[in-house]
Amino acid sequence: MLHAMSAKQLEHRVSSGVFADDFREEPYWWTAASPVATGPSSETRLPGKAEVAIVGGGITGLVAGLYLARAGADVLILDAQNIGEGAARRNAGFVGRTLKRSVEWISKKEGRDHAVRVYRELDSALKGVKALVDAEGIDCYHMICGRLVSANSPAHFRSTVADLQSMKRNLGFDFSVIEKHEMHKELASDRYHGGAVIPDLGSIHPGLYHAGLVKKALEAGVRIHSHTVVRGIEGGDGLKHVRTNRGVLEARHVVIATNGYTTKDLTWHARRVIPFRGFVIATEVLPEATIDKVLPNRRTYLDTKMNIDFIRPAPDSNRILFGGMTGTNCETGTGLAAALHARMVTILPDLQDVRLSRAWTGHCAGTFDFMPHIGLRDGVHFALGYNFAGIPLGTHFGKLIAARILQRGNTGTVFDVENFPSVPLYRGSPWFLPLAMRYFDWQDRRIATHQ
Ligand SMILES: Cc1cc2nc3c(=O)[nH]c(=O)nc-3n(C[C@H](O)[C@H](O)[C@H](O)COP(=O)(O)OP(=O)(O)OC[C@H]3O[C@@H](n4cnc5c(N)ncnc54)[C@H](O)[C@@H]3O)c2cc1C
Repeated sequence: MLHAMSAKQLEHRVSSGVFADDFREEPYWWTAASPVATGPSSETRLPGKAEVAIVGGGITGLVAGLYLARAGADVLILDAQNIGEGAARRNAGFVGRTLKRSVEWISKKEGRDHAVRVYRELDSALKGVKALVDAEGIDCYHMICGRLVSANSPAHFRSTVADLQSMKRNLGFDFSVIEKHEMHKELASDRYHGGAVIPDLGSIHPGLYHAGLVKKALEAGVRIHSHTVVRGIEGGDGLKHVRTNRGVLEARHVVIATNGYTTKDLTWHARRVIPFRGFVIATEVLPEATIDKVLPNRRTYLDTKMNIDFIRPAPDSNRILFGGMTGTNCETGTGLAAALHARMVTILPDLQDVRLSRAWTGHCAGTFDFMPHIGLRDGVHFALGYNFAGIPLGTHFGKLIAARILQRGNTGTVFDVENFPSVPLYRGSPWFLPLAMRYFDWQDRRIATHQ
């Protein structure tokens, strides 16, 4: 069992050839879509003015910028890093309509109508990705491949099926039950106690999706400046002054789209998002027959734990991507990659002798209420806290913020709530995360042995 693996055993794994000759600590997606420096060199001062300044050049910032520029607005996107160095080109490319809070959970707390509205909007965000990809002709392997959710215990199997039944009853979302003895039709693993396939969920190549958005935004006239750190935003409801490491910019509208990378300069927002690390590995190129055996239907795969393990095939080569150990407090490093390899093999023993070609990490953003948030504070728009659903929600919120600034169309959303919670003394460094993750892991282990 992975948790019991000693430092010595790990060291042995590292030295015993888990890594392919071309192994790199870099997102697999960067092979096809490497992050880029965009705009004038970092010594150049900023242009003094823009109608809309967007902080963060991930999915949210680019989608907002694209729609605004198409409507004639003068838009400047500012990003502290190369464009594409955030989570947008580091994620796993699952396109779903899932949050950590189920329909039943939200119903108990906030009523069934609210829960149904949350999941309706998640569904429309899911469909919005396909609509955007199709409308813009972005070549990014968007596929409706279906998702297998595998149960970690018999009790989890029952509750997963009950949740999906509730979604079907209330929202019409389809699914099919996979009994324990049928699991090998879906996944070459004896680890799970049955599962369910949700047929209309999708996947994407996140690097190519984001690169496609950059291209479209630039063509629409958006100016994008990388290596520009926003240090503060001053001004009330009128003109704003955006202070950066390259001078001050005046803007009529400002959008914060920084999710898990929100710097502490953005004090109010940093106090409300909990950055935590996700980790992913990619195998070397495998024989087609291995993928056919291990992931015969080439879906996306995750389990029912709080701290999930997730699996998918690469869309553009015969590799398998595996992720987990979210929130572990370290840089990627070969030790962590070897630990993830060991974890992958406990689930998919056919991959025992398979080596790794990539390992990487990135920042996701949790929130204290496990919900994403969009809103306006002190005249500044924000969309943050995607809780692992940033591909559909970043796309959806980017579009919504553009519509709000343009004052066009229906701009209402169930995620626009008054209360975006923080906790006393929290300033954006989640010192409690290792403890919280240990608690979730303990709960997950308990669940795994529960009948
Ligand atoms: C390992 C991993 C796996 C994931 N898997 C999935 C998945 O399968 N499906 C899914 O839907 N989601 C997934 N996510 C989450 C998803 O990637 C994110 O929610 C989404 O990309 C974040 O939103 P974004 O693209 O708008 O911002 P990001 O791409 O995170 O960009 C934010 C940008 O803000 C910039 N920034 C921050 N502060 C400042 C500042 N002060 N000044 C200037 N710039 C600033 C940063 O430099 C950064 O580039 C995953 C995330 C990770 C890390």
